[in-house]
Amino acid sequence: MNPGFVHAPGLLPVPRPDRLQPAQEAGTRCVWCRRTKDLPVDLGPRLSTHTGAVHRWRPRACQPCAAREAARVLTIHIDRCGRCTPRARYYCEDALALDGLAQSIPQAPAAGPRRRR
Ligand SMILES: [Zn+2]
Ligand SMILES: [Zn+2]
Repeated sequence: MNPGFVHAPGLLPVPRPDRLQPAQEAGTRCVWCRRTKDLPVDLGPRLSTHTGAVHRWRPRACQPCAAREAARVLTIHIDRCGRCTPRARYYCEDALALDGLAQSIPQAPAAGPRRRR
């Protein structure tokens, strides 16, 4: 369920940084919904050239947004990938990683003080 060698969040396309708030670009707000708390998903290093120079940034996301985007990207992926088909659900490593992320929405609010500040 979790093939550690594919970093699924790194496969998700993100909005262009010049269309984001600075805090979203800085990774202190969800790159999609702009929330500021509970951003467990590191979307990995990104390179943009919107300023004319290569610009490196590192967006983050909340779990619901990351899961939703993973599900969306997975449906696109399955249409295009030669190793995956919608009927057989034969998923390549990328698709398995995306599927794992898509299934990662917590069923209920996480109980217990996992990381209090
Ligand atoms: Zn979000
Ligand atoms: Zn595939």
